[in-house]
Amino acid sequence: MPRFRQRTLSIVPSSPKLLTLALLGAAALPAAAAPTTAPIVGAPSAETVAVQLRDAALAGHDMAYSWVSELTTRFGPRPAGSDNEHQAAQWAAARLKALGFDNVHIESFPITAWVRGAEAGELIAPTRQPLVLAALGESPPTPTQGLEGEVVVFASLAELQAAQPGSLAGRVALVANRMVRTQDGEGYIAAVGARIEGPAAAARAGAIAFLMRSVGTDSHRIAHTGTTRYVAGKVPLPCFALSAPDAEQLERLAALGLSPRVHLYSAASYVSDAHSQDVIADVRGTLKSEEFVLLAAHLDSWDQGTGAIDDGAGTAIITAAAKLIRDLPHRPKRTVRVVLYGSEEIAQPVKPFGDFGGYAYANNHASELARHVLAGESDSGTDRIYALGLPGAVRRGAFADAVQRVLGPLGIIPAAAPRDGGADVAPIAEAGVPVFALNQDSSRYFDIHHTSDDTLDKVDRVQLEQNVAAWAALIWLAADSDVNFRGPAVPGPAER
Ligand code: ZN
Ligand code: ZN
Repeated sequence: MPRFRQRTLSIVPSSPKLLTLALLGAAALPAAAAPTTAPIVGAPSAETVAVQLRDAALAGHDMAYSWVSELTTRFGPRPAGSDNEHQAAQWAAARLKALGFDNVHIESFPITAWVRGAEAGELIAPTRQPLVLAALGESPPTPTQGLEGEVVVFASLAELQAAQPGSLAGRVALVANRMVRTQDGEGYIAAVGARIEGPAAAARAGAIAFLMRSVGTDSHRIAHTGTTRYVAGKVPLPCFALSAPDAEQLERLAALGLSPRVHLYSAASYVSDAHSQDVIADVRGTLKSEEFVLLAAHLDSWDQGTGAIDDGAGTAIITAAAKLIRDLPHRPKRTVRVVLYGSEEIAQPVKPFGDFGGYAYANNHASELARHVLAGESDSGTDRIYALGLPGAVRRGAFADAVQRVLGPLGIIPAAAPRDGGADVAPIAEAGVPVFALNQDSSRYFDIHHTSDDTLDKVDRVQLEQNVAAWAALIWLAADSDVNFRGPAVPGPAER
């Protein structure tokens, strides 16, 4: 399709020669220099190249924005297992080939997909009022006529978990805890347990449905969906997230002793023979091409927005960063691998693929994981990176110092080593692959995360480029080094 080819050109830097000159300066190697397998005599130092990559990323080439714009415009929402997700993966692979990546391919894996159907909620007593809600991912449907019950409010997941078996028989549980807005996203970690564990706890107490206040920081009448978990292959009852104002309305009615009753309806369904896929693309290394530095983001999204900040932006950031490295006159020692994961958002009922799509990559590449020297994930939207958590083994020393000299001018400071690096890379982290985290400012992210408001207009183009700059510089430094990122943790700068 000619149109496709035209757009292909649009995310290549406007002039590859200009980019090369910008990266290397006037005294650089010839722009047409081919990738080489030997050290280049007189080549700039790795740190000098990292600075040039950083500055090139900030120079307005717009690669990342073009990627997320086209991805979300062409394919819209990309629920795991959907045609939109499959087509987005095909497009991404074609685009990565056109950009000159090596070893571009798609690895499919089976999943049980979940499909939202028509859904509705209404307060029916003591007064009538529509409720703004969204079924949680993996929620079973209600009966076709819906279901109806009195709402019992719990201040926290722990309170619900303490409810006696049978005490909620015929009733609807509501967990009403509030998420706290924080820069580092810890408020989400603290609040999301209600979504993961709440339905099972409600079922144990005999409830007929589970409601929760959305895990989000906005005050709008929009609901934040998200995955819940299967228990022994089954999500036990219909479950929904309420918009924050609707959850508060039910809380106040209960506090007044007015015993709110609700009617809930969902026609959600499952597709047990669906599939998702990981898209893989390499910038092949030179002297140590069998070693990998892995960049992760996920191509699937929730169904209600277009998955611009979660996680179209992440796929754009890592692809643009790797493309800048790929366009250097010489390649790094180690292979830079981009993995655009599928099925990050939805839990799975059974092994072998574990909870999320990241397990498919870990299984398929088990024999290579010892040679995955470092991995990181971009999955917190588009706002600026303010801190870097390196693996414990390298939190201090020459590598950390060089990284800090390059990233410091971007406003990035050292942070603690990451816990697991994120949902995509957690399975390989469990297998021993060291992970880093470029921590983004998450103050705004959870206003729109997993809502119908997750659309392209929320992408901040300037901050997006700061992300690309940090990723390109850090990945280059790691990939063109001999640093061993494995090993026992050393105290970080703050503990010196
Ligand atoms: Zn995500
Ligand atoms: Zn998400």
